[in-house]
Amino acid sequence: MPLTVSVVELADLVTRVLLRHGVSAENAGPVAETIVAAERDGAASHGLLRLPGYVSTLKSGWVDGRAVPIVTDAAPGLVATEAANGFAQPALRASALLLREKARSQGIAALAIRNSHHFAALWPDIEPFAVEEFIVLAMVNGRQRMAVWGGNRKLFGTSPMAFACPRPGRLPLVWDQASSVMAQGEILLAAQRGQMLPEGVGLDAEGRPTTNPQAVLDGGSILPFGGHKGSSIAFMIEIIAGALTGGPFGFEDRSHEYPGAQTPKAGQTVILIDPLLVPGNRYFERIEGLFGAVVASGVERLPAERRYTRRQQSLRDGITIGDRDLATLQELLA
Ligand code: NDP
Repeated sequence: MPLTVSVVELADLVTRVLLRHGVSAENAGPVAETIVAAERDGAASHGLLRLPGYVSTLKSGWVDGRAVPIVTDAAPGLVATEAANGFAQPALRASALLLREKARSQGIAALAIRNSHHFAALWPDIEPFAVEEFIVLAMVNGRQRMAVWGGNRKLFGTSPMAFACPRPGRLPLVWDQASSVMAQGEILLAAQRGQMLPEGVGLDAEGRPTTNPQAVLDGGSILPFGGHKGSSIAFMIEIIAGALTGGPFGFEDRSHEYPGAQTPKAGQTVILIDPLLVPGNRYFERIEGLFGAVVASGVERLPAERRYTRRQQSLRDGITIGDRDLATLQELLA
């Protein structure tokens, strides 16, 4: 029977699972928060679905659940954080104060995190900064899953990028997207549900187009969105989140040496800009004019609105955990 719990109760359950599998108390909180945020906002592909992947990676020894991130004040506008083979969320948490202070005093600052494992959606990382009135851009590279446009095998990660900006008196605009036609989590869901993929999503292990999600997962590759354009964005992300931070490139992935490992060991770059420090832009006076024009042009909705609506429902009515996720949680807690 499905179980309905509050957001706080779900966070407690997920935290207990992580603690049970060797994650330190300092690291379990930020990781659990991002999993629960996905469930709360109706982003099923990065919620409880991923928890067995976190646990199996911890068991494999590929990620260090007890890693202590090392934050370095690298330059006036740059924070560099060594995640020490831990999860990305605790590294971001440890770096956030310094990043915020730099961006506030200088107008712009970047955070380069290396040797981190990011297995989640990016919007929980950046939305809080936009609530604090920063414009935010984040990029994460990952283990090879996606073909370069024209290539016949996986080389880049599905390379997500996210953007957020503040709005006066409203929740921020946030978008967060993979550089692939479809995120790997969606392909995983399709495989679990026995559904076929649309045409143009993936290649099999021999580089042939396929609509079978399992063929894509078993040594095949996902295609970039927008053909060569998405491919170039992923290339940029590989450089900004991989080369710039000093983290591994997607094709350098060694997770196969750790049976059961599922998280990508990679890098993350977060850039904060304080719009109030650009003379004469009148950001907060003008930005709603832009949003008004976009809405008046007939769009169905803005990015993040779906999640915000779902969040209100979850906070009001709780989150219903389906039978499959409930069984998984019980198993992981046993
Ligand atoms: P989607 O295509 O589902 O959504 C991309 C963005 O577009 C979202 O911000 C979404 O907002 C917005 N959007 C969707 N439909 C509309 C619409 N009709 N009008 C306006 N805006 C819309 O995302 P992806 O499948 O590309 O990625 C899913 C998740 O996977 C992301 O959170 C990403 O970070 C994560 N990911 C993580 C990786 C990692 O290594 N950690 C790797 C790759 C992906 P809304 O949320 O409101 O629907």
